[in-house]
Amino acid sequence: MKIGPVVHSTLARSVAERLLKLIADGSIKPGAKMPSERELMDKLQVARSTVREALQTLAAVNVVEIRPGIGTFVNANAKELIPHAQRALQAAKEAPPAAPRAPGNGPGRIQLAGLAPLPPAPEKPVHIPNLKKDRLATFDLISWWERDKVQAARVMVVGAGALGNEVLKNLALMGVGNLFIVDFDTIEAANLSRSVLFRADDNGQKKAEVAARRVRELNPDVHVQYFHGDVNTALGLGVFRRMDAIIGCLDNREARLSINRFAYRLNKPWVDGAIQELFGLVRVFVPGQGACYECTLTEQARREMSLRYSCPLLARQNILLGKVPTTPTISGIVGGLQAQEALKLIHQMPVNAGQVTHVNGLTNEFHTTAYTPAEDCESHWVYGDITELADRKASTTTVAEMLRLARDALGAEASLELDQEIVLGLECHRCETNTEVFKPISQVSYNDGLCPGCGELRQVHMTHFVAGDEPFLSRTLLGMGIPPLHIVRARNESEYRFFELTGDLPDTLHWSHFEGGARSPRAARVRLHARPQIRLGQVLPDEPVAPPLPRPRIVVH
Ligand SMILES: [Zn+2]
Ligand SMILES: [Zn+2]
Repeated sequence: MKIGPVVHSTLARSVAERLLKLIADGSIKPGAKMPSERELMDKLQVARSTVREALQTLAAVNVVEIRPGIGTFVNANAKELIPHAQRALQAAKEAPPAAPRAPGNGPGRIQLAGLAPLPPAPEKPVHIPNLKKDRLATFDLISWWERDKVQAARVMVVGAGALGNEVLKNLALMGVGNLFIVDFDTIEAANLSRSVLFRADDNGQKKAEVAARRVRELNPDVHVQYFHGDVNTALGLGVFRRMDAIIGCLDNREARLSINRFAYRLNKPWVDGAIQELFGLVRVFVPGQGACYECTLTEQARREMSLRYSCPLLARQNILLGKVPTTPTISGIVGGLQAQEALKLIHQMPVNAGQVTHVNGLTNEFHTTAYTPAEDCESHWVYGDITELADRKASTTTVAEMLRLARDALGAEASLELDQEIVLGLECHRCETNTEVFKPISQVSYNDGLCPGCGELRQVHMTHFVAGDEPFLSRTLLGMGIPPLHIVRARNESEYRFFELTGDLPDTLHWSHFEGGARSPRAARVRLHARPQIRLGQVLPDEPVAPPLPRPRIVVH
């Protein structure tokens, strides 16, 4: 069977149409199993979400049957249904795109008998705290509290809204030593009713920056760094690699899914929180221990996400929607639980990984259930050994140079796999124009997609591979949307290799905002290496987790 790549705007529908043709001409026989999602992704050069949407479309018209965990099968009477399916696809062309909905919770949860008990307190030397001079003194009276671990901990908080404010306030008060704060948004008046770190004068300022400054005021012993930008695309994986825990304080699925994948790849635990009116939930995800965030997504949720991606430029705009009504009381409760879970992770105490705790503020009930892990979950991939490229930076390394490094390690056929789509061009069928772009999709807005001639939304041509013959090889990695300190993925037919742009480390991760005078990069570097590493030993295995991970066994055609 030979399938060529497709272009993006017609996307899932065009993939569905091509699969229908293959069934019609007998290339794929009734009753047979369809090629795997990965094979279809490789052959059609589209994302997994698109393949899934296409298969779901065919399933909806009974041409195929999706058996979760087993595969997709062509129904025995598929050929008779093809005319009907083609009409349905045609009708879908005129249908408006579905509106995004508020996040929901996955089904398939199983009831637990009770919470896991806390461990017995470890032996701790007797220490009389100085309550007059030492702000953290009373914590030492807690039998299991280990001040050194808390002060050495490095925690990323993504989202500095209502939940993020509460989490950061708690972490700063507890003396968690290094906080990395991420948000892309600015402060507006409506934030003031639920954000303990913001003041009226902060209107219009960056949430991450103001939160970082207030954290330093609350506890000057805490090192902070803020990042004003998009966690989905603009933060290098090397930053995640140097965290002990990540806390998501988000209001959208896309960012949760990104954090879930990044955290999994670097084998890091992450704590999710969500709030709406007087309801909330908290959940901890640890790679290899029970379900991850993506496992919890229902087919409906996946479908909504992939529908949004059927127009890639609109998808990015929609991420910015989704304001959810909440109160500062529920954000205080859920943010408190999230910070508390992070504290347990820092102390290597047991956490309810892969479970969710629902908080019902109307009835004052807490309810904890476990999610069922999904066997074929796309997120379950822990990167292997990471090669640190000490002299390489995203801003100065070209795509060609990166490809050469990859080929030195993996052979002449190696290619780079990018984490975000590169927009190659925008094509207007009405005006018959084709404009070259060569930018990551995060840098192409919906308005950029509109044709300057006729105002129509143009067709977007994209790729996420670099095979060596692209016209953008002389651009820098940064210019192609690869952020500083990122871990670049390369592969040949049989294996993956991972290369970190470690030359970006001193500028990208310094923890020294608002410390009165800029630290030299060298000082920051020394400090980073000198700090004792927290090992999340029992909680988090050092080695990639068994069972075998789905990706490395992929056969590349
Ligand atoms: Zn999963
Ligand atoms: Zn036009």
